[in-house]
Amino acid sequence: MKLILLGAPGAGKGTVAKQLTQLDGSVQISTGDILRGAVQAGTDLGKEAEGYMKRGDLVPDSLIMGIMENRLQEPDCQKGFLLDGFPRTIPQAEELKKLLVKLGIELDMAVNIDVPREVILDRLTTRRTCSNSECQAIYNVKSHPPKKEGVCDKCGSPVIQREDETEEAISHRLETYNEKTAPLIGFYEKEGLLITVNATSSEAVIDAIQKKLGK
Ligand code: ADP
Ligand code: ZN
Repeated sequence: MKLILLGAPGAGKGTVAKQLTQLDGSVQISTGDILRGAVQAGTDLGKEAEGYMKRGDLVPDSLIMGIMENRLQEPDCQKGFLLDGFPRTIPQAEELKKLLVKLGIELDMAVNIDVPREVILDRLTTRRTCSNSECQAIYNVKSHPPKKEGVCDKCGSPVIQREDETEEAISHRLETYNEKTAPLIGFYEKEGLLITVNATSSEAVIDAIQKKLGK
């Protein structure tokens, strides 16, 4: 399947994407994970992106489009992909549309995961992430803690609170979402690709996607 996952930070895009990869071998492409990996590795891309990310601002569109143009041409994308955290602005969506035409790729749909603001705020402040850039497993201190406190179940690395998950950065990320990313809902509706799912469990979101795909 070839999907765009839309939704505010904390809506569950990453969790849904990870579960969908188990179904048909589609790959998760998370621009946030790619950028955090680049920051940790200290690459030029990482150095450029770091300051924006810490503040909860978006990284410039040109950097993101460069990443995505390369990523979508890697062979593992042929089975399908789940775009998690991209596009995030109208210019990115317009560029993506052109890129997909150029590459001869057709999207199945854009899924808007709509979760109430209280749930989002609660999730983001209690979210913890594996510090290993190859792993980036997601935990939640209340609903899904690691088996051993502070240690990743999957790889044994320390589990940390992301630098952009302080209360200040979180509220800034939500403002950025409302201003820059929420307009994509209208964009994909006009494209005839949008489905909106009002669900706070990832299973319910996945069921809705499978129904829509006719599976
Ligand atoms: P979340 O969805 O939880 O906010 P992500 O992991 O998707 O977080 O992204 C973390 C940060 O990486 C964003 O706050 C932003 O600075 C940057 N980022 C990720 N994807 C994009 C994108 N498509 N365009 C611009 N910046 C991005
Ligand atoms: Zn890990």
